[in-house]
Amino acid sequence: MIVITSNQTPQEQVDDIIAVIEKEGLQVHLSRGADHTVIGLVGGVTPKLAEHLRQMKGVENVVKITKSYKLASRDFHPEDTIIDIRGVKIGGENLVVMGGPCAVESPEQIDEIARLVKASGGQVLRGGAFKPRTGPYSFQGVGVEGLTMMAEAGKRHGLLTITEVMTPEYVDICAEHADILQVGTRNMQNFDLLRKLGTCGRPVLLKRGFSATYDELLNAAEYILAGGNRDVMLCERGIRTFETYTRNTLDLSAIPVLQNLSHLPVISDPSHGTGRRELVAPMAKASVAAGANGLIIEMHTDPDNSMTGDGVQSLFPEQFDVLLRELEKLAPLVGRKFSEPLEAAPAL
Ligand code: PEP
Ligand code: MN
Repeated sequence: MIVITSNQTPQEQVDDIIAVIEKEGLQVHLSRGADHTVIGLVGGVTPKLAEHLRQMKGVENVVKITKSYKLASRDFHPEDTIIDIRGVKIGGENLVVMGGPCAVESPEQIDEIARLVKASGGQVLRGGAFKPRTGPYSFQGVGVEGLTMMAEAGKRHGLLTITEVMTPEYVDICAEHADILQVGTRNMQNFDLLRKLGTCGRPVLLKRGFSATYDELLNAAEYILAGGNRDVMLCERGIRTFETYTRNTLDLSAIPVLQNLSHLPVISDPSHGTGRRELVAPMAKASVAAGANGLIIEMHTDPDNSMTGDGVQSLFPEQFDVLLRELEKLAPLVGRKFSEPLEAAPAL
């Protein structure tokens, strides 16, 4: 349920409303917008409490949220969520670009790619240390050592880092080494993992399951939010359709739909969304034109020899660079500006 007050409502009246809610043992989520302040309540609101709140001074309206997800919904939190990670802002008008290989392969590989991502103006280094592979005999990632390699490359070149975590047991170690934790498409409804991420202390990028509806994605996000972690990004990474020419079908509509339904930043992944290098740049630009708050893009210095099959969808560094130059021109036309970069850290 939400209680709506005007921004003219004196603070003491807002405090009184909050006190009444908290006395009932319910949690309060405050969201201040340009015209209204929305006080969100999660939990069993009795009709008596709803009526009492409706009568209180300063209250304009009391509205029941009928959606199954609450904290993720825009009704509950009308303002865009902006996640601030050491000065890099994700959400609102800010555009963030995450680039890097599918998998961390060696210290040299990730360091060189980090240098290139930074030189092109990206703010976040992506790379998997634990890879969710379709077959058990495929390369599964370099594991924990990859986390250190990536953290060092990120520090050296002044980039935030994002890496995938697949099981609850590995959340703490991934959170120790990476700035953002990624939930892959295959794990979108791994509820134990989502619950654990609710208390991990790191922002989470939640990828849409390749057969998941918007509603299922937002309910998955709700698990993380309900655990107390408010820093969640949604990611459209393509869904399975009858088309086989592309690896997946990047659902561009997901971007404005999710932004209408939710206040959480929406990131697009045109690499997995298409599975074809030549389609990555056009779909990256289309995503930004559709309102995406950021992109996550695979880039590799030697894609033909990359250790996962994702070389075919990885941009060459020059292509990544050209794309970012184009995005710089496109962003202001669609109300976006590149988020500030992280300050370069001194050499390790
Ligand atoms: C990845 O980002 O490399 C990845 C495995 O993504 P997804 O979960 O979208 O397939
Ligand atoms: Mn990949």
